[in-house]
Amino acid sequence: MPNGQTGFASTSSDAATTLDVAVVGGGLGGLYALHRLRKLGLKARAYEAGSGIGGTWFWNRYPGARCDVESLEYSYSFDEDLQQEWRWPERYGNQGEILRYIEHVADRFDLRKDVQLNTRIVAAQFDPAANLWTLRTEAGEVITAPFCIMATGNLSTPRVPDFKGIHDFKGKWYHSGLWPQQGVDFTGLRVGVIGTGSSGVQMIPLIAQQARHLHVFQRTANFSLPARNAPMDPERERIHKEHYAERRAAAWDTPFAIAGHPPPTQSALDVSEEERNAAYEAKWQEGGSISFLYAYTDLLLNKEANDTASEFVRNKIRGIVKDPQTAELLAPKDHPIGTKRLCLDTNYYETYNRPNVTLVDVRSAPITEITETGVRTTAGDYELDAIVFATGFDAMTGALKEIDIRAGNGPSLAEKWEYGPMTYLGLMVSGFPNMFIITGPGSPGVKTQMIASIQQHMDWIADCIAHVRGAGKSRIEPTGQAERAWVEHVNQVADSTLYPLANSWYVGANIPGKPRVFMPYVGGFAGYAKHCAAVVANGYEGFVLSP
Ligand SMILES: Cc1cc2nc3c(=O)[nH]c(=O)nc-3n(C[C@H](O)[C@H](O)[C@H](O)COP(=O)(O)OP(=O)(O)OC[C@H]3O[C@@H](n4cnc5c(N)ncnc54)[C@H](O)[C@@H]3O)c2cc1C
Repeated sequence: MPNGQTGFASTSSDAATTLDVAVVGGGLGGLYALHRLRKLGLKARAYEAGSGIGGTWFWNRYPGARCDVESLEYSYSFDEDLQQEWRWPERYGNQGEILRYIEHVADRFDLRKDVQLNTRIVAAQFDPAANLWTLRTEAGEVITAPFCIMATGNLSTPRVPDFKGIHDFKGKWYHSGLWPQQGVDFTGLRVGVIGTGSSGVQMIPLIAQQARHLHVFQRTANFSLPARNAPMDPERERIHKEHYAERRAAAWDTPFAIAGHPPPTQSALDVSEEERNAAYEAKWQEGGSISFLYAYTDLLLNKEANDTASEFVRNKIRGIVKDPQTAELLAPKDHPIGTKRLCLDTNYYETYNRPNVTLVDVRSAPITEITETGVRTTAGDYELDAIVFATGFDAMTGALKEIDIRAGNGPSLAEKWEYGPMTYLGLMVSGFPNMFIITGPGSPGVKTQMIASIQQHMDWIADCIAHVRGAGKSRIEPTGQAERAWVEHVNQVADSTLYPLANSWYVGANIPGKPRVFMPYVGGFAGYAKHCAAVVANGYEGFVLSP
């Protein structure tokens, strides 16, 4: 589309904010981008749609919202004093603690002055003659910068299903990813939670404690493991901090960017059933997902091996949930364990033993509409005072596709990605010069401790911008060939695992009509980081730099 059609041409450049780098998003990614770019002496500014910084941890305030990577790992590693001084009160950080941490980081590194809140970027247009991006906000503000970084998040576009009648509902409804800042009191209410992914699994036990009655509408059962959250053990914290730098280095040398889990050495099929179940039991007691998936080498590679772990967890569910029919509904059978995001919970399965909780199977009797008084399925009506949509996000591509991103007269990014996202290294897109993505499709981001990926990506991007400028060039872009080869590689790696067997948000399965493409790179963080370094060592192999 020509410039004029997006409305940029009519805007005087005098009125524009002029930057070296425009950053979209004020979460952990956008904030680290500012810090890193400032160190290069660049003028950068981040634009955030929300009224506060923090991204995921600003928006997702639902009861029980908590990280499922241990807090000593899920934190920035770029500053030794920061990581030594910050005290995490619990094994896993909850939403409030993580947001407090992010705010502390922003203050400590004086980042807030370069974040513009309440500002949604709606369009970005690259002018190939001037090698300049022009971004436009919803309010009409114009920003120009030679480089643009999309730190828009992977799980930042909440998805509310398009149920007939939703606006007729007389009670209140909420989405887990757009939770009211003041919280919600469900005391004495008849509540319906729709969705049993990570957010649903975290909130259901807590809402059940408040609600008069809770109906959980489940389409697909997900595997969940006990988190075994607990107050931080001071001795554990001391030892961890004593070796923080080494632990971070060790983490960056693993597939998930998480240290402390010795890599498995044996196939699940090489040991007796008794030995295997004892190993799974130990992991179950320890809590956490990485530890469990690290029990054997082939849990994500070999279906037969995976079946042993899946069945172990199904048997646990059958042991916890007293009503056999409910237990069977909660026991996932349509995907191998670990191939969808593995949930961590506190008393999730136990909650179904409460007299005020009912599981509703909407696979066999789907929801047909929301009525004035509740939810209607093909099996009947459920009267509710409040509905919670724990229905997830338009993951990985949603936020980027919502921005009208164009370069010259070429197709928009949404058009280019009509049949699935294409990137080189998950970092850049051919045809969209000087635009970087943090943890985009094709990056291992969502399959890792994401702050590590954010830092690795942003360090690479900062070095890249410095290199382009240092070389007296003003433009970098991946070749179409390099991009195609990377997409093929991402798919080949996924196909060598069990991941494609699941209908997950990794393939966009939760969004009707979204093309089925496996989006994350599951070749592991360490291998990916080495590959990115090799690309640079080979003179930015696969990229074209121009004057
Ligand atoms: C409930 C939940 C639990 C999670 N738990 C874990 C976990 O245990 N471990 C883990 O590693 N990761 C977890 N994640 C992933 C989490 O998203 C990342 O760890 C991390 O917070 C991502 O940071 P980010 O800055 O890249 O993206 P985000 O935090 O999503 O921030 C992106 C920001 O960009 C803004 N934005 C988007 N589009 C625009 C636009 N057009 N204009 C202006 N602003 C825009 C959004 O408002 C948002 O604030 C979880 C995610 C969710 C939703």
